[in-house]
Amino acid sequence: MSGIYIHISFCKSKCFYCDFFSVSNLTHVEKYISALKKEAVERKEYLHNKPVSSIYFGGGTPSLLNTEQINEILEIIYAHYKISECPEVTLEANPDDVSINYYKEILSAGINRLSIGLQSLNDTDLKLLNRRHTSAQAMKAVVEAQEAGFRNISVDLMYGLPGMSLQGWEENIEKVLALNVQHISAYHLSIEAGTVLSDLLHKGQLILPTDDDSLAQYKILVKHTKEKGFIHYEISNFALENYFSEHNSSYWKQTSYLGLGCAAHSYNGISRRWNVADINTYIQNTDDRKNFYEEEILSEKDKLNDYILTSLRTIWGTDMNYIKKTFPEKYFKTILKNIQHHLMAGNLIQSEEKFILSDSGKFISDAVIRDLIVV
Ligand code: SF4
Repeated sequence: MSGIYIHISFCKSKCFYCDFFSVSNLTHVEKYISALKKEAVERKEYLHNKPVSSIYFGGGTPSLLNTEQINEILEIIYAHYKISECPEVTLEANPDDVSINYYKEILSAGINRLSIGLQSLNDTDLKLLNRRHTSAQAMKAVVEAQEAGFRNISVDLMYGLPGMSLQGWEENIEKVLALNVQHISAYHLSIEAGTVLSDLLHKGQLILPTDDDSLAQYKILVKHTKEKGFIHYEISNFALENYFSEHNSSYWKQTSYLGLGCAAHSYNGISRRWNVADINTYIQNTDDRKNFYEEEILSEKDKLNDYILTSLRTIWGTDMNYIKKTFPEKYFKTILKNIQHHLMAGNLIQSEEKFILSDSGKFISDAVIRDLIVV
């Protein structure tokens, strides 16, 4: 199996925490779609004809596209790739863009899963993040999606926000769970260089929660989602049974994926590619058939580290048998040695030949993974 990611690099305005590549000038949307279609045709060899089980419109803001534009892109993909029988076709949507009619149209265009960027159901949080929607719009966006017929809806949430109280976060989760969505992605705020929040932090105008506050918020998230039957299948992702994201899982299970569009990344087990992060260069170079991506051929060590980095984030864990069979023995021995103190500290749990992050280990996953990476 394989996946296709389509990056829609446009946003009406910039959220204060975001360092993703996007531009607010929408005049190039049509040219950009033409370039995307050209890239889709020209790069199909990258997936080695593997069936595509997931198509994902991410961004940026894919819900800025109208149905015709979505149709155009999907038609090209369906015409040039081997698509599996029931592919997951996801569109990321911002609450301020959508309406019940829009939902109905994109549903008939073949979008069968939504990822709605709520981030919070608290207006103070949304203002702090410079999101374009209010909490009322966020809830309406989910309810209308359900009324339009969507039965597979994921929502994004953020915690660890400045000023977020434990009670405020708990209320947020309760409201989200009452919306009866099938999937929740919840991320701790990360302050990225070059963002407005990073500036405010350096000027001393932003107070971040303590590690203890963040851990308490994380525990509440895990507890409430579990009580509602969600499976915590990846560090930041929770889903009802049969609603694990095919798209996300392809990253974590190291399935090949092709990233189309500005700044999109691709991976096929042999190489990693990343497209130029500049709209004009991307459009011009796809037109002129010039190169618009960089490529790195993966070494054995890269492949091993990719495997650790992705597998350890999931409930399926890191399989030491697989590492032993696939990679040089010296790497296996190094990992086995480095794993011991995390086992003793309770950050990792051993289940037969697999190592899986414990609940406490999930909260410090970056540190655990860093220790296991082979240098
Ligand atoms: S809508 Fe998404 S991609 Fe666009 S600025 Fe906000 S967070 Fe970034």
